Amino acid sequence: MSGGAGPTRRALLSLGSNVGDRWEHLRGAVAAMPDVVDVSTVYETAPVGGPDQGPYLNCVVRLQTDLSPKALLELCRGLEVEAGRVRRVRWGPRTLDVDILWVDGESVDDEGLTVPHPRMFERAFVLVPLRDVAPDLVDEIPGGTAGDDVVPVGPLAEPAGA
Ligand code: ATP
Ligand code: CA
Ligand code: CA
Repeated sequence: MSGGAGPTRRALLSLGSNVGDRWEHLRGAVAAMPDVVDVSTVYETAPVGGPDQGPYLNCVVRLQTDLSPKALLELCRGLEVEAGRVRRVRWGPRTLDVDILWVDGESVDDEGLTVPHPRMFERAFVLVPLRDVAPDLVDEIPGGTAGDDVVPVGPLAEPAGA
């Protein structure tokens, strides 16, 4: 599915769901993603910002891909649409959120796309699963990744009824 003939790079995507069958939304998205080489443990996390809403399941996926950041954003949007996401309020509840955290060697600051993700390093619900699949990106961060509100649930491949 990755198409181009160029060299591949590491890309990290963050997934979150707090509406409907959260586990299935994550599982379905990862199953539909090209070039996946590793998936973090799934964590249950307390919502950060936005309106009052239920807890999330979060994970981070590592791709080895020749897709550009722009193509990755299209992929993220397509997966959200597939999960029936409806945008209402900013940081509100959603069936599926897929963000591009990082692409090796890429720095993008366009309208509609910023990579690395500007808020990734302040979010335990991103950093804890990111450490599972890309520890080199996390280990240098002062203050570490401690977060009481980030609880491991299990590997995505296992049926969890979560
Ligand atoms: P946050 O960005 O703080 O995690 P959010 O994920 O809830 O908030 P969304 O409503 O899902 O925000 O996305 C708003 C817009 O952010 C998207 O339409 C997309 O164009 C833009 N965007 C900018 N940078 C990125 C990125 N690195 N990954 C995904 N979307 C991004
Ligand atoms: Ca997000
Ligand atoms: Ca998003």
